[in-house]
Amino acid sequence: IEETLVLVKPDGVARGLTGAILSRIEAKGYTLVDLKLVEPSRDVLARHYAEHEGKPFYEPLLEFMLSGPVVAVRVAGDRVIEGFRSLAGTTDPTTAAPGTIRGDLGRDWGVAVQQNLVHGSDSTESAARELGIWFS
Ligand code: ATP
Repeated sequence: IEETLVLVKPDGVARGLTGAILSRIEAKGYTLVDLKLVEPSRDVLARHYAEHEGKPFYEPLLEFMLSGPVVAVRVAGDRVIEGFRSLAGTTDPTTAAPGTIRGDLGRDWGVAVQQNLVHGSDSTESAARELGIWFS
């Protein structure tokens, strides 16, 4: 059984979409193994988003992620890493496919960073690394 890290980002929590997002994960048949509401430190976010350091959206991304609480979830299931990313939809919520979390619930807010409701690990290596950061 595989595990992934899902984050409900500050926009998802602030808009009251946490339950709707978790429902979709459960409805797909995945298991919520651990879950917490957190106000992440800048250090945690810098570690989480290390691969994006230096990119134009890096600072806006950290500011956005510091703007309110996030829900961190350890999710388990067969092929859950790939499966959750499919459920989440592509990065840009404007063009994410209908039926996905981002496609159904997100849109572009005209800000410097894509406020796209959720994060999901993109590989087994990322999942192990990110679960270690958020659930150490
Ligand atoms: P995540 O890793 O959060 O699941 P992702 O894999 O779709 O999303 P990444 O390329 O890893 O996207 O980027 C991480 C986050 O940075 C995105 O979810 C988004 O919030 C923001 N982001 C990425 N690319 C851009 C961009 N070109 N412009 C603005 N924000 C961006």
